Amino acid sequence: MRHGKQFRVTGWALLLSCPSLLVAQAQPGYVTEPSKRIPIVYDADVVVAGAGISGIMAALAAAKHGAKTVLIERYSSVGGVSGPGLNAGGGNQQPGPRPMVMEDKNGVSVPKDISIYPDIAGMTKLFAQRLIQLKKEKNIASHRLAASHSINYLATIMLQEASVEVLVSTLVTDPIMDGNTVKGVFIENKSGRGAVRAKVVIDATGEADVARRAGATIIQPKDSYQMVDAHSPNGIGLFAYVGGVDWKLYLEAIAKNGKDFEGKFSPRDVEKFAQIAVSKSSENNTVLSQQEGDIGSVKIQVVRVNDYSRHDGGKAEDR
Ligand SMILES: Cc1cc2nc3c(=O)[nH]c(=O)nc-3n(C[C@H](O)[C@H](O)[C@H](O)COP(=O)(O)OP(=O)(O)OC[C@H]3O[C@@H](n4cnc5c(N)ncnc54)[C@H](O)[C@@H]3O)c2cc1C
Repeated sequence: MRHGKQFRVTGWALLLSCPSLLVAQAQPGYVTEPSKRIPIVYDADVVVAGAGISGIMAALAAAKHGAKTVLIERYSSVGGVSGPGLNAGGGNQQPGPRPMVMEDKNGVSVPKDISIYPDIAGMTKLFAQRLIQLKKEKNIASHRLAASHSINYLATIMLQEASVEVLVSTLVTDPIMDGNTVKGVFIENKSGRGAVRAKVVIDATGEADVARRAGATIIQPKDSYQMVDAHSPNGIGLFAYVGGVDWKLYLEAIAKNGKDFEGKFSPRDVEKFAQIAVSKSSENNTVLSQQEGDIGSVKIQVVRVNDYSRHDGGKAEDR
């Protein structure tokens, strides 16, 4: 009790000594941000917002053509969903057209004759070729954790080679507007707020942050993106790795419980979670190996249901 009283007295003392807080109290719902001069930290030809695989390729391609390029990423490393998001390991790492291969329920690879991956070209092809070379040289294991870090590592090297200026741990906030034209972006990081001016602004945020804030009409599905397309950008999730799996017991449990097994998943139930993690990864073809004791993986993605229409004056179009 004594501590509580002391705390309340201190809180009021702070409030009374801070006039701006009193203003905020007087107008509930809004505060007014004072205007200020923002330093131009870069004057570039091209600025790319978001360093996922799209932003990396855009920045590399721009720099290759001689453009002074700045790439800005909110997280502390590049790669996005394919990097720190740990979702690498799919078709984007294999150059060249080939039949789509699926695994049957016994884990045997079966070519699907209905679909082929198209050939990849340009910077993407170069990146994929170097990735394969890197994996061979460094004898990198073939699983998602290693693949994601390889993408991050290689991208960082290639961005340096191309003299792309990379700002990590930096959030792109608002576009710099000149009438209807985007002339750069405002950024925020530990150094404060800054401006990056550019002739060309590329929005590779995965969620059209820059375009949306510039007032562009955004197509917003009625359902969450994840419900429309499981591959849609939905932010970086959480990967759980499950080690020491007894595959025999696991297969027995699946055979016994069937589909019901999956339905009983609860994130709070750690034991069940581990079991489901393994069964999910098996379904999604993401089990690293089915040798006894090897690890399985599953990605848990937090699906963000953004109601943009509340924030952009109703410009989002419902589909
Ligand atoms: C479960 C799943 C499986 C998939 N499997 C495959 C597959 O097998 N093969 C395949 O080719 N593709 C696959 N994909 C799709 C592929 O992973 C994505 O399409 C691709 O990684 C998206 O890249 P991106 O650069 O467009 O977006 P992202 O990877 O989302 O990158 C956006 C980047 O922008 C950053 N950012 C966002 N907002 C801001 C901001 N305001 N300021 C600064 N930075 C910001 C983010 O941090 C992120 O790094 C899969 C996707 C999922 C979810």
